[in-house]
Amino acid sequence: MIPTAKAPKALEQNPTGKTPNHPRYIVVTGGVCSSLGKGIAAASIGAIMKACGFKVFVQKLDPYLNVDPGTMSPFQHGEVFVTDDGAETDLDLGHYERFIDEPMSKLSTVTTGKIYTDVLNKERRGDFLGGTIQVVPHITNAIKEVIRNAAIQSGADIMMVEIGGTVGDIEGEPFLEAIRQMKSEDNVFHVHLTLLPYLKGSKELKTKPTQLSVRELRRIGLQPDMILARADYRIPKELLEKISQFCDIPREAVIPALTVNSIYDVPLNFEKYDIAKIIGEKLHLGALKPDMQKWEEGRIRYEQAEKEVPIALVGKYTGLDDAYLSVIEAIKSAAVFHGRKAEIIWIDSQKLGEKDEETWKALKACKGIVVPGGFGIRGIEGKIAAAHYARTQKVPYLGLCLGSQIMAIEFARTFLKDPKMTSEEFDEDGKLPKSKYVVHFLPGQNKGRAKGGTLRLGAYTCKLRKGTKAYQAYDEAGQLSEDGTISERHRHRYEFNNTLRKKLEDKGLLFSGEWPETNLMEIVEIQDHPFMVGSQFHPEFKSRPHRPHPLFRGFMKAVTGKR
Ligand code: GLN
Repeated sequence: MIPTAKAPKALEQNPTGKTPNHPRYIVVTGGVCSSLGKGIAAASIGAIMKACGFKVFVQKLDPYLNVDPGTMSPFQHGEVFVTDDGAETDLDLGHYERFIDEPMSKLSTVTTGKIYTDVLNKERRGDFLGGTIQVVPHITNAIKEVIRNAAIQSGADIMMVEIGGTVGDIEGEPFLEAIRQMKSEDNVFHVHLTLLPYLKGSKELKTKPTQLSVRELRRIGLQPDMILARADYRIPKELLEKISQFCDIPREAVIPALTVNSIYDVPLNFEKYDIAKIIGEKLHLGALKPDMQKWEEGRIRYEQAEKEVPIALVGKYTGLDDAYLSVIEAIKSAAVFHGRKAEIIWIDSQKLGEKDEETWKALKACKGIVVPGGFGIRGIEGKIAAAHYARTQKVPYLGLCLGSQIMAIEFARTFLKDPKMTSEEFDEDGKLPKSKYVVHFLPGQNKGRAKGGTLRLGAYTCKLRKGTKAYQAYDEAGQLSEDGTISERHRHRYEFNNTLRKKLEDKGLLFSGEWPETNLMEIVEIQDHPFMVGSQFHPEFKSRPHRPHPLFRGFMKAVTGKR
């Protein structure tokens, strides 16, 4: 159990003389280069603070100009993570939910595009009474306001703020300036994550890039309180001392952040260096001692997991872990739950469609098949062929949103003996009669051309049908409410065509979950199959390292043959 009483009391003491119960802010910036795992680092610090008994909330400030990440290509930006309240967010929010195990929300995601839109709308309304609108103070004030507002509305004791990008980026400057101002107005602890590159020739790690990125921070008036030094090799003591000296950071606050085996190791590794204590002292929270037992147990489970089991991930962004980040994490933690390690095998759906021999051979060597979410027609025939193979060869299959639609299309093509059956999405010139759509736009649904803001997004209730695989999976995971309902997150435009429901059911397709208010079908499954289940929603968003999602758990149970 996490002790909860301690934290608010510590906050009440509030020896800083600032507003009583003022939330504490932990700001995380990154230096040297991107892709250092800043999100995971921030999420791990959040997990440690939660393990001290605090209520933790997180906000990611992204300096790019898109208003939200919803329309960004997974190629460039990785997966779009969806919150309960339907925000389409940066994938780092997924790290936060997984590590801190608190639901994030619209408050958790802010971009430059959003800040400017809000400020410019105010300007158009005349709210600034004819004043000149400038980056400082108008944009920086708006940034401070969204941060403080998120802290107040979420009721957080500890508000984690991650600044996207790398120190030195032009777009990032207003955010850093806002943080600089907050440092004298609020209780702020600043963590800076950098990289110590390894030079093969001289066999050494280098601290100069770290020194330079801290110098860049200081140029704008920011002195970090802690450095997390990422490195692929053990960092010698002298280098940690050197960083401490050059960057003016207490030696104990220069923390080696080595590449680790599993996600369970990241918070454990940080806490080995007493970071809760260091943060607690600076933020006047008393002597903090987190309870890391859950993470220890996770690490042990991971280490004890036996040999690898190959799982096919059939998609179009092959090799791009970030595009399917939550899916991969959900597969991995479900495998560890059943005492195995998952080996993700990338299967290019387009090549499957082209009957590429090598690709089919790789698919057939897998013990389970996951068809994740996706948009657009590319690779669709390959995915349908994979679903056909899984159904006829009784290979465990999990369909996530598009993957569930694919399952139903395959079933309809086979059992209604009509190869034209498809989704309205794939009938690009709209030539087919509506009766061919297994998945379609609902009559009256907003069909506008806009790609942003036309999706069914966020959490919806689903009622499960007793006696189905889906029901059993949720029941076994202890995640079923008394009336057999669940709540899951959506991000799609198309829905199952209810006029085909009876026909498909008569042939043996089972609709095992529906959205009660609308009778929309949310889960499909195949009878007489070890596990072939697909959901319109995205279960991966609610999977946690300590609590794998019931559908992933059920799928991996079938894969590993565990009882
Ligand atoms: N393209 C499909 C739809 O819009 C599936 C979306 C998804 O997989 N997230 O309904």
